[in-house]
This record gives sequence, C-alpha cells and structure tokens, in this order.
Amino acid sequence: MTELRTLKVALLGCGNVGAQVARILIEDADALAARTGARLQLSGIAVRNVNSKRDVELPQDLFTTDAETLVKDADLVIELMGGIEPARTLILSALSNGACVVTGNKALLAQDGPTLYEEADKAGVQLSYEAAVAGAIPILRPIRDSLSGDRITRVLGIVNGTTNFILDQMDSTGAQFADALAEAQRLGYAEADPTADVEGHDAAAKAAILATLSFHTRFALENVHCEGITKVSAADIAAAKDAGFVIKLLAIAEKLTDADGNEGVSVRVHPTLLPREHPLAAVRGAFNAVFIEAENAGELMFYGQGAGGTPTASAVLGDLVSAARRLVLGGPQRTETTTGHVPALPIDAAVTSYYIGLDVADQPGVLAKIAQIFAENGVSIEIMRQTIHRDAESNVESAELRIVTHRASEAALAATVEAVKGLDVINSVTSVLRVEGV
Ligand code: NAP
Repeated sequence: MTELRTLKVALLGCGNVGAQVARILIEDADALAARTGARLQLSGIAVRNVNSKRDVELPQDLFTTDAETLVKDADLVIELMGGIEPARTLILSALSNGACVVTGNKALLAQDGPTLYEEADKAGVQLSYEAAVAGAIPILRPIRDSLSGDRITRVLGIVNGTTNFILDQMDSTGAQFADALAEAQRLGYAEADPTADVEGHDAAAKAAILATLSFHTRFALENVHCEGITKVSAADIAAAKDAGFVIKLLAIAEKLTDADGNEGVSVRVHPTLLPREHPLAAVRGAFNAVFIEAENAGELMFYGQGAGGTPTASAVLGDLVSAARRLVLGGPQRTETTTGHVPALPIDAAVTSYYIGLDVADQPGVLAKIAQIFAENGVSIEIMRQTIHRDAESNVESAELRIVTHRASEAALAATVEAVKGLDVINSVTSVLRVEGV
C-alpha cells in the first residue's frame, strides 16, 4: 500500500466547537484519511490559556498560545476563535501563506468578508465557512454548488436558534418576551448578554452570507435591514395565533423589482408572520431551517441543529475534508468568484404583506374610513376582522381590528399607517408586522 501524504492542520480555538473538531480529528483519523486521500495531522491548537479545562481530553503538548507560528507551518487552518481580531489577521496570514482556511466566524465574514474572499482568490486557495450559517445544516454548499445551474429567487431562513426558542416559548405558553428570554438563558439557549441574538445582529450576519451566495453578489452587513424580537409582545403572538399565523424571526434575501422598475435584492431580518401550515412554521425550539425558492428546483427546505459544539463540528469537518481532497488532487482550488452585480434595495423598496392591529372606537362608519385610507395609498386589504371589547369599569366599547394586506411596498404601508393614525376614530396602532408565505 502506498504511504498517504500528511497534511498539517492548525486549529485556532478550542472552545465549544474547536474541542469537538479536535476530538473528531483524532478519533476518526483513519476514516478521514480514507475519505481525503491524506492523513490530517492536527499540528497544534492555539488558545488564550493552555491550562484551561477543556470539554474533551486532548494531548497537552498540542496546545500553544503562539497562533502566528502555528499558522505559518500549516496546510489547512481551522479558525474557531470567534471575534474580529486576531482571527482576521491570522486568516489573512494563513491564506497568503497558501493554506486553505475553514472558519465558522459569521461576525467576521459579515464585517470583512470581501477582504478575506479577495485574499483567498489572490492566493488561489479555498476559504470555506459552512459552519457560519445554520450550524450543522449543509446549506452553503447546496446553494453554491448544487443550485449553481439554477436561479434562486428567494431565501427565507430561521437561522438563529435562540430567538426561535424564545418565540416558540411565547407561542406555546403565552409567555411575555422577558420570561421566555429568562427561560432560554436558564436552559443555556441564550447568553447572559443576549443582544446579538435578540436584536437580530447574528441573523443579519448570516443573511448577508446567504444573500451573497444566492445572488452571486457581495452583500455586507450594512446592506441588511435588521429588526430583532424585543418588541414582539405576548399580545402580538396571541393575535397572530388567533388569525392562523406563527411569528418567526426570518432572515430574508429575495430578488425584487422596485417601484421604478429597478431590479435588486432585498436583504432583511425581522419578525415575520407565517401561516401555521408553512413548512418553516413547524420549526420548533432552537432548531434552524432554510427555505429556498429557485426557478427550476422550486421549493426546497433544509432543517437541523443550528448550533452546538458537536453539530457545528460536523460542518467544519465537511469543509476540511473537501479542502484537503482538493489539495491532494491538485489543480485550482474553488474560489469565491462573484459574478453578479445586483444592487441591494433599501427597506422602503421591500414588497411584502402586512398584519396591522388597530384599537378603534366602536362607531358606525369606522371600517369605511379605514378602508378608504388603505385604498388611497394603494394597499389592498386581504382580510379584515373585528372583535368588540367592553371595559368592565367604564362600560365603554372599543373594537380591535386585525387587517392582513396583499403584497405592498414598505413605503406604501408606512404612508398608510401614518394616515390611519391621524383618524379621530383610532385609539392606537397596536402592531404592524410583516407577513410571508400567504
Ligand atoms: P468559544 O467556546 O468561545 O471558544 C473560543 C476559543 O478560542 C477558546 O478556546 C479560546 O481560548 C480561543 N480564543 C479566543 N480568543 C483567542 C485569542 N485571542 N487567541 C487565542 N485563542 C483565542 O467559541 P465557540 O462557541 O466554539 O465558537 C467558535 C466560532 O464558531 C465562533 O466564530 C462562532 O461564531 C462559531 N460558531 C459557533 C457555534 C456554536 O454552536 N458554538 C455555531 C456556529 C458557529 P481559551 O479556551 O483559552 O479561552
């Protein structure tokens, strides 16, 4: 039998994901060698503190704090430190040294992806990041490779497990946001500082990556309109439920034509009502899923664990084997060429349906006044439901109106809501939420 070539693998970071990657590299070395055609030798693990206790037992002599030296001598570098620096400098140094890089660092890719892709292209080496979006779910490679002969028109993703857990708790128990967040923190689904998750920043970073690959154009975080879930109330959830909807935080990237006929891509993250029969509505707890619409393939859905050390390590190892196999076979590495130049559309140009909750005076003619304002602004109403409430103390009656519109632009909807607020029969606009899948 011919001796297999050895490829040196440098691992940067040994936390939740890195420790599991190191374990699999050591435990499954023979199987990985058989699949790769080379032995993947873990040459070292860079960490901040070499003496910290790890989730798995690993040879102590692998650990170092000298990440720069470790990177210089590697054929493949796995970056699982997180954060912007020193991850960015180390990745750039690895790429310019000719090493292939695998990372799960969505924050860095969303902030400075173009610099990294360009360095990889220049050096002719592979930069892979399957783990950066939806953890274990193979989603980036299907978009980039399997669908490369098709045209993707729309991507809808539940790509943040923390917020999906919180919204699911609110939906199933009627809890308020703060109580559902506390439960998520107690169970380890949310961090002590949950800002990046609940404000939608984590999902926005993933939306930028999904949009870039789906539409062959580089989109950065600043192109993503982002709204989190902190303002979603138990009342919103209950009203949505009553109307046959569930509220999910969606990352959306879709091709649209704006009011002036210009084609572009709308990339956005916001709480969204979905009909309860939509496939994404069935995604419960901390699970993730990505729903894709393509011209020829039609509708596709990818579902699985969006986080966790071992599931995420699966995606990292997949990228590693793929990059190593290309090193073994020789020839040019797959680089991240983006051939499209579709502009990012501002949120005003987004076109979607809306759910609007109104607290109105219970008087004759109210519905007609409201319907007229919608018509004047070109927003057509699909469903309008009224529920009457009587205040037990004052005995005054008021009505709650729930309206679902047909697809309209954000600009038209905003103008409609402003005009409705000015009516003397309106006590308050209780909610304005976007709707998909109707
Ligand atoms: P983590 O548990 O916080 O581990 C980070 C590791 O990096 C630690 O071992 C730490 O060393 C090391 N490190 C941090 N800064 C360093 C520095 N300046 N120099 C040397 N080492 C440094 O992180 P994680 O949860 O494994 O996540 C890693 C990456 O994967 C992140 O980009 C994350 O966004 C991404 N990701 C994570 C998940 C998940 O489920 N956790 C899912 C998808 C993607 P010490 O141990 O010595 O402190």
